[in-house]
Amino acid sequence: MRRRVVAGNWKMNMIPAEAAAFAASLCDGLKETDAEVHVIPPFTDIAVVADALKGTDVFIGSQNMYHEDKGAFTGEISADMLNGLGVHSVIIGHSERRTIFSEDDTMINRKVVKALEKGLVPILCCGESLETREAGNVSEWISGQIESAFAGVGENDASKVIIAYEPIWAIGTGKVATTGQAQEVCHLIREKIKELYGEKVSEDIRILYGGSVKAENSSELFDCPDIDGGLIGGASLKPEFLDIVNA
Ligand code: PEP
Repeated sequence: MRRRVVAGNWKMNMIPAEAAAFAASLCDGLKETDAEVHVIPPFTDIAVVADALKGTDVFIGSQNMYHEDKGAFTGEISADMLNGLGVHSVIIGHSERRTIFSEDDTMINRKVVKALEKGLVPILCCGESLETREAGNVSEWISGQIESAFAGVGENDASKVIIAYEPIWAIGTGKVATTGQAQEVCHLIREKIKELYGEKVSEDIRILYGGSVKAENSSELFDCPDIDGGLIGGASLKPEFLDIVNA
């Protein structure tokens, strides 16, 4: 039985005082859920959000990290720094990192490997552009992203990764994938994991859908057999996040 996951990616929003107040407003609602909830604020809000969510089982995540341990990497944050703040999970390969900050598959793979080595749970994002979808290349594209991200990851570590399928055309656009489209790709990802690691890992690994998830469409998406929850952007900044967690 895979435990359901809902992760809220706050992106570049909220100064620490706002973040602390918003996290405190979610606290009571988050105490009541059986789902595994990850709240993922910007780096600068991690400490205050962790403090505000004390007494809940919510995990604090980070939106990014660098794959080197330390040194001359101005502006970057290491896995040890995140561990020092009590961070549990880290988003790796979000499409905004891939497109705006030119992160490629090699860098994403290094980050996945480093996060696992340091005991952080990677929330690995994959997803196709509209162009790739319209060209009929979704399966090949997603397979390639998964294969590359998991290079060098052993069987014991593979099922610790949480995969988020996020079609780029659905992120922040209000265009949610149909349940059929989301289920089809999440199933394909599970099959790819089976090919790489076998049946047990493919049954254990959690696969999320992300892209314009809202309270009104979340239950239908989360009911799909290969979708184990959601990575939520815009709606995680609103009280609606609790309705999605409850879905
Ligand atoms: C995201 O950024 O991971 C995301 C899914 O965003 P949104 O929910 O706003 O589409």
